[in-house]
Amino acid sequence: MKKQIYSVLVFALILGACTNSNTAVKPETNKQNDYLTMSTLWYQRASECRALYYQAFNFAKHSLVVNLAESKNDKPQAVVVDIDETVLDNSPFEAYSVRTGKSYSEELWHEWTDKAGAQATPGSLEFLKFAESKGVETFYISNRSVSETAVTLQNLKALGFPFADEAHMLLKTDTSIKTVRRNKVSETHEILILAGDNIGDFDELFEDRNQNFGFETVDAHRADFGKRFIILPNPMYGSWERVAFKGQRGLNPEQKNELRKEALLGYKELGN
Ligand SMILES: [Mg+2]
Repeated sequence: MKKQIYSVLVFALILGACTNSNTAVKPETNKQNDYLTMSTLWYQRASECRALYYQAFNFAKHSLVVNLAESKNDKPQAVVVDIDETVLDNSPFEAYSVRTGKSYSEELWHEWTDKAGAQATPGSLEFLKFAESKGVETFYISNRSVSETAVTLQNLKALGFPFADEAHMLLKTDTSIKTVRRNKVSETHEILILAGDNIGDFDELFEDRNQNFGFETVDAHRADFGKRFIILPNPMYGSWERVAFKGQRGLNPEQKNELRKEALLGYKELGN
């Protein structure tokens, strides 16, 4: 009898261990966002990322002073900043996507932005307050949708960002290309600095990446980086990623992963 009880106990223990290990295994669907793990980890945990933000905004302050001194324009002056991954850190949303396996959807994104709880990116608030102290206004040009106006303003105001009001915020209505919105600001203000994590935050000419990933366009404007254009690091997502997909839409996660790998440069592609 004792032996039987012992056997049942051992079996129960093994079963328990199996059950525990099974619960620790992520559902298969989680794998589809695994590619985001490293970039989100770097964005959240690498002090190098933090330092890059400080470096960018320190340089922005320096260039703002220089650009103000060089300005011969009578218009009031402004800096234009993107919002997501430029002044607000949405990496908790990416971390949530990795952990749950839920891919981006507008509904999921709004669940996050409705909380109005994003933190400021390192150095962004100091830079915009510095600009304000120099009499320079801030305009926020973002591809958040206009339906997110109230929660976005709430988030920016809570963090103390200057000019967090409807007059200074141009969200997306019909197109993600920001030219029309930048031109609207230019009608009344001289834009001294533009800051963003996507190269399209600076000028529409960077949107075309069909030829060699758009590298030649960047090379042709190399003198503008750090001077008029302040670029921030975002390895988690961006229009840069679509180049690997060769313009194809509706790809499933496996196809996307294959194309990402295909776009990498190895020894062979470099002729070694
Ligand atoms: Mg952005």
